[in-house]
Amino acid sequence: MFATQKLFNNAYKNTMNNNTQSQYDLVIIGGGVSGAAQYFTVSKYTDIKRVLLVEKESAPGMINSAATNNSQTLHEGDIETNYTLEKARSTKYKSSFTRRYLESHTDLHGTLYLKGPKMVFGVGAKEVTELRKRFQEFKDLFPTLRAMERSELATVEPKMIAGRQEKNVLGLYNEDGLTVNYGALAGQLIVEANERWSQEQSRSGEVRFGEAVSDVVDNGDGYTLKIGDQTVRTRFLSVCAGAHSMYFAKVLNVPAVAQSSLLLIAGNFYYTPKFLNTKVYTLQDPSLPFSAVHADPDILHQADKNRYGPTTRIVMTLERGRFHTVTEYLITIVPVVDSLLAYVRILANGKFLLYAVKHNLIFTIPFLGNYLFMRTARKIVPTMRYRDITLARRQGGVRPQIVKSDQTQPLNMGEAKFTAQNAFFNVTPSPGASTALYNGLVDVRSIAKKIKARFDDQAVKQDFGTPLV
Ligand SMILES: Cc1cc2nc3c(=O)[nH]c(=O)nc-3n(C[C@H](O)[C@H](O)[C@H](O)COP(=O)(O)OP(=O)(O)OC[C@H]3O[C@@H](n4cnc5c(N)ncnc54)[C@H](O)[C@@H]3O)c2cc1C
Repeated sequence: MFATQKLFNNAYKNTMNNNTQSQYDLVIIGGGVSGAAQYFTVSKYTDIKRVLLVEKESAPGMINSAATNNSQTLHEGDIETNYTLEKARSTKYKSSFTRRYLESHTDLHGTLYLKGPKMVFGVGAKEVTELRKRFQEFKDLFPTLRAMERSELATVEPKMIAGRQEKNVLGLYNEDGLTVNYGALAGQLIVEANERWSQEQSRSGEVRFGEAVSDVVDNGDGYTLKIGDQTVRTRFLSVCAGAHSMYFAKVLNVPAVAQSSLLLIAGNFYYTPKFLNTKVYTLQDPSLPFSAVHADPDILHQADKNRYGPTTRIVMTLERGRFHTVTEYLITIVPVVDSLLAYVRILANGKFLLYAVKHNLIFTIPFLGNYLFMRTARKIVPTMRYRDITLARRQGGVRPQIVKSDQTQPLNMGEAKFTAQNAFFNVTPSPGASTALYNGLVDVRSIAKKIKARFDDQAVKQDFGTPLV
């Protein structure tokens, strides 16, 4: 059973009953951290009257938001070397909403989140020079970030230095990191929202778990949805269904996605005994769009394990291991020829192709895969042995990376929102969990405006200590 379910065991009973209405102001599809953030925002900062959240799983946050399926990092931009200063500034601002929310729940430290150090680690002259330069550029934005030399690293994280031949190493270290169980966060947001709804007389918030939205029709002034054997109507539709958001947008022929499709990237995680207390990222290869190996504390195994990964495997399922979703994936790549040509342009980057082949084929070979991953992970812990590493079975979600077939560089990193007249479709690869609360606030503010409801900017500013821009 996932920790999320354990944590909120009884809180997930459907709030919907037989007398439930079938006309809503807002329906949210998806009870991961994105949909939960919207549901929470509606309850607290708007006067929207009738909202419904529909989640096909039996509890919130069981797909990409599950702690087993992502790296649990609150991305802020200090240890992600693929972020420019501007991207780091924007990500830090957006993630600050999640940080503020978590830090106001001190009683949930250890279950919802963990405080602890993080760093980006460079090995060899080239990487160390790059990190020193980066430190000068980023230190004002991150006042608690500092350069940690080899001698101090040997004291703080001895396993990173033991047995290491290379003398030239450097860490950019920040003691103020957060590891987050985003699935549990989704649950907490829904529980809080439901508590608020239960005290409301003139408004209603409802949640349906264990039922999928199987059909959506655009009525011009709203949407009709099929959920189980019931039909409901909504004035506004917000699709927070991960990779399925693209599927729904394609089914509805939303013009904004006409030239977009998905490249689906799954990946494995590996466990080792707990060698490290710090979340350790390594420098990203600039010619590859995915983060290099990193070592993480695991909120589900705080005392005894570290988790490494993820690897990068191209798949055709919208959700990990759900083979029936291949047909839905095929709908996301319409128009097929344009999407295939875009894939060819992406793979024309020889390094990317080699990387994809290595991760798709070699890392999946029993024993050899573990051995090769161990060699990669030795960049962080040089004395790691083959017997230290085990595959974290059935872990790792699917990152739905956006591909724009009308662009010369078709692969887009980061989250995307596609808009129709009365609908939003959120597609959320990393850092979508870190920024979910900010995205939820901004989306709901726009939705409130569209359906002529009130949005309380002042209350948001008061709760989060910063205006919502
Ligand atoms: C390997 C990996 C590592 C990552 N690491 C990080 C990280 O460290 N930090 C970070 O910020 N982000 C990370 N991410 C990204 C992060 O996991 C996602 O951005 C985030 O979980 C997205 O949340 P979501 O609610 O949008 O999607 P999800 O959590 O996937 O939720 C979508 C929900 O929609 C539901 N749904 C789909 N179709 C239907 C339907 N027809 N009817 C009803 N419900 C439906 C699904 O059941 C699901 O619960 C990582 C992702 C992966 C795969």
